[in-house]
Amino acid sequence: MLKLYNSLTRTKEDFVPIDPDNVRLYACGPTVYDYAHIGNARMAVVFDLLRTVLSGLYPNVTYVSNITDIDDKIMKAAAEQGVPIKEITEKYTQIYNEDLDALGVEEPDIQPKATEHVDDMIAYIEALIADNYAYEAEGHVLFHVPAFPKYGGLSGRSRDDQIAGARVEVAPFKKDPADFVLWKPSSDDQPGWDSPWGRGRPGWHIECSAMSAQHLGLPFDIHGGGADLKFPHHENEIAQSVCAHGHPDDLSSFAKFWVHNGFLTVEGEKMSKSLGNFTLTHDLLEQGVEGEAIRLAMLSAHYRQPLDWTKDKVEQSKKTLDRFYGILISQLDANVQPGVFSDDFLNAIYDDLNTPKAIAELHALAKDIEKDPDDIEGLSAFVNGGLLLGLFYNDPEEWLAPKETTLDEAYILEQIAARQSAKDKKDFTLSDKIRDDLAAQGIVLKDSPDGTSWSVE
Ligand code: AMP
Ligand code: ZN
Repeated sequence: MLKLYNSLTRTKEDFVPIDPDNVRLYACGPTVYDYAHIGNARMAVVFDLLRTVLSGLYPNVTYVSNITDIDDKIMKAAAEQGVPIKEITEKYTQIYNEDLDALGVEEPDIQPKATEHVDDMIAYIEALIADNYAYEAEGHVLFHVPAFPKYGGLSGRSRDDQIAGARVEVAPFKKDPADFVLWKPSSDDQPGWDSPWGRGRPGWHIECSAMSAQHLGLPFDIHGGGADLKFPHHENEIAQSVCAHGHPDDLSSFAKFWVHNGFLTVEGEKMSKSLGNFTLTHDLLEQGVEGEAIRLAMLSAHYRQPLDWTKDKVEQSKKTLDRFYGILISQLDANVQPGVFSDDFLNAIYDDLNTPKAIAELHALAKDIEKDPDDIEGLSAFVNGGLLLGLFYNDPEEWLAPKETTLDEAYILEQIAARQSAKDKKDFTLSDKIRDDLAAQGIVLKDSPDGTSWSVE
């Protein structure tokens, strides 16, 4: 029995699907205006794992994860670059999917785009206005929070907390400072759609209410996303959905389980674009870091815990995978049995996706196989466990092959000489830059009393 921590009830619960023939999962995906950082990738890895675990238990799982392709950040990027927003959103959606593919993340079954569901959103907003949960004001439509007394039930925020942010700049047309936008007007030079309230565009929250209902039906089993979305985004999604569907007393009439991944952090702070402390998945891959090592590093912490990102973590994961692939290559001819798992491994996974424990069990199995390479049962449990975590998707021979570089050796030696001469002149800014530039191209320098040597990382 799978147990999952439900943020809505704040308890770990047995997962019982609404319809065991079709388990339905929705997770809030990225806003595509730029490359995604590895905090975004954590969310994608976590829900990819959850989907795989569910697929092992139930015959059909439908996983929907949206693409936010209308947003002020996208409009700003398009204006700055002088291109239509579609050019930005299509480019970064494709890169997002490609980068995640390198991390062993399968695309969701459905990846709906907000711009393709504006009609659904308009219908939703009309239903909310008709039932007096929303009102129009100066070309805007707002959800009226006091009309929904259960507001705040997911995050547990008090009314004061809810409006703390809004107080700074309360739009004059809001009836209540906590009211949030469902629709806003667009000026002629901004992207917009015709609506009963004039030409405009949807607010962010309504897209997930409309798209999840459209593709999964209500209620569905699991709604997920990063912990930063609990308030206000998920709180607002619940408000819109349960009110539009006539169940304002039942917060679980939208989604039964709410699953939130913890933050990927840098020195304790959430990784985010606005703080500038981010690392792009795309850059790491370009630098030659293996996507599978990134994935394992992400799974090395429990999904609800913060995961502090360090270079060391990925390097450690790479070493672990070197060991694991060493076992796989020595067992290429073995008759691995499907469906065989170790109890400790499955118990860990079914206990709210306890991946650190599951990985520890893979290490224990690896140790046993190294001692007794003929233990097919142990080997099968090891291989199947790795696959369930979304690992072992590389070719063992390629993984273990000595790395090569496309750079010319003469060029590398020239750079090493240039670095030495910069050092001799005490121009350490330049010497560090040369070393970092080489590192970015996968070449690592090692200094010793005999001089500088290089290797491909
Ligand atoms: P965004 O593009 O910022 O809307 O984020 C896309 C997804 O990534 C959402 O589910 C976020 O909750 C999640 N996310 C964003 N930043 C982080 C982070 N530092 N750690 C974990 N998840 C994050
Ligand atoms: Zn959402």
